[in-house]
Amino acid sequence: MSHVFPRHTKAVLPTVAAGDGCYLTDTAGKRYLDACGGAAVSCLGHTPRPVIDAVKSQLDRVAYAHTSFFTSEPAEELADHLIARAPEGIGRVYFVSGGSEATESAIKLARQFFTEQGEGARRHVIARWQSYHGNTLGALAAGGNRWRRAQFQPLLTGAMHHIAPCHYWRWGEPGESPEAYGLRVADELEAKILELGPETVAAFIAEPVVGATMGAVPAVPGYFKRIREICDRYGVLLILDEVMCGMGRTGYLFACEADGISPDIVCIAKGLGAGVQPIGAMLCSDEIYRRIEEGSGFFQHGHTYLGHPAACAGSLAVMREIEQNDLLARVRQTGDKLQAALEAAFGQHWAVGDIRGRGLFRGIELVADKETKAPFDSGLGIAAKIKKAAFANGLMVYPMGGTVDGQNGDHILIAPPFILEEAQIAEIIDKLGPAMESALASAR
Ligand code: PLP
Repeated sequence: MSHVFPRHTKAVLPTVAAGDGCYLTDTAGKRYLDACGGAAVSCLGHTPRPVIDAVKSQLDRVAYAHTSFFTSEPAEELADHLIARAPEGIGRVYFVSGGSEATESAIKLARQFFTEQGEGARRHVIARWQSYHGNTLGALAAGGNRWRRAQFQPLLTGAMHHIAPCHYWRWGEPGESPEAYGLRVADELEAKILELGPETVAAFIAEPVVGATMGAVPAVPGYFKRIREICDRYGVLLILDEVMCGMGRTGYLFACEADGISPDIVCIAKGLGAGVQPIGAMLCSDEIYRRIEEGSGFFQHGHTYLGHPAACAGSLAVMREIEQNDLLARVRQTGDKLQAALEAAFGQHWAVGDIRGRGLFRGIELVADKETKAPFDSGLGIAAKIKKAAFANGLMVYPMGGTVDGQNGDHILIAPPFILEEAQIAEIIDKLGPAMESALASAR
C-alpha cells in the first residue's frame, strides 16, 4: 500500500522512471511525449544537462544558507540576469519556491508598500474572473475560478474583487472590434476602482496570457495599455502574474513585452527552474523597493527556502541555455508551426471552437455548438476524458474544463518544451486526434 497522498486519491498512476528530452518513461517501459511540460514547467525537456550539472556543482559547494544570514553567488547572478532583461523600472528580485509564494509575496508587498507611506486604507485587490494565481489562501482569494474557490470561500479574504477577463472570441459582442472590446473590459477596472473608492485600492493582478483556467488566452491589443493607464490614474499597483506564461513560454522572456507595458510587480516561476528545481520569484520596481528601504527597511514576509542557492544555480543555467541556444526565437517559430498544424488538423472539427495562444503556449477550446459557442455540459467531463485518453496513447496534454462559470467550457492546454521538434508536432496531432474522438463520442 502506498503512503503517498496523491492529488486524485482514486487514480492509479504509473510510476515515472526516467526522462529524456521531451519524453518521460514509466517503470513498465511506456514512453509519453510531454506536450505540456507537466504544467508548463519543463521548458528545456527532462534532461537539461547544463542545468542538472549546475545544481550538482552548487550542491557540492553549499546546499543551503538561510537568507537572514547570507546572500549567495547564484542568487546575486540570477537576479542581475533577470533585472537586465526585465520590463522597464523593475529593479529587485525576491526569490521564493514557486508560483503561489510569488503571488502571495506580491500581494503582501503591495499592501506593505501603502501602509508604509500612510495609505493604510489601500487594502483592496482587484483581479479577474477565470484567472488562477495559486492555491494558497491569499492567491486563491485573488484567483477567479469559482470552482477552485467554492469550498474554501469562508477562508478567503473579503478584500479581493473581480472584474471580467479579456477573451474576445468568447465574449466580444457581435460587430464589436477586438480593440473596442478590449477597452470596454479594461474600463471595468476603472468602474470597480471608483465603486470601491480609489483611496482604498492597492493593486490589480492579472495574467498577461491566461493559462490554466482559460487555456492560453492572450488579451487583445490595447487592453493592457489601457489597464496600465487606469492603474496610473488612481495610483493602483499593477501586478502581472507570469508564473505560467513568463520565462520564454510565449517567445518573450517576459510575456508583457508583447503588450508593450511594464508592471510594478511581476511574478514568475515554472519555467524559471525548468522543473529541475522548485523556484519562483517576485520582481518589483525600484520605486517600491526604495520606499520600503527608506521606510521600515524590512519586508514583513518570508519562507524558509527563499533564495535557495541550488535552485538559483539551476535557474541561472536555464536562463543561459535559453540565451545560448536562441530559444526565444525558436519558441516563436515552433509556436507558429504548432498553431498552423493544430488549425490544419482540428480547425474544421465540429467541436473545436477556437485555437489560440502565443509561442509554445496554445489552447484549443471545445464547444458543443460552434455557432452559439455553447460549452459542453460539465457533467460529460470532456476535458478529463481527453487527458486520460491522450495519456493512454502516450501523450501528455493539460486539459481543463466544465468548471468555469458554466460559460467557458472545456479546453486543452499545450505547452511543450522549447526544444520540441517538427516531428513531435506531428506526433502531438496523431495522438491527440483519436483522444479527442474517443472523449467526444459520449457527446454526439
Ligand atoms: N499563477 C499562475 C498563473 C499559475 O498558472 C500557477 C500554477 O499553475 C500559479 C500561479 C501557482 O503556482 P504554483 O503551483 O507553483 O504554486
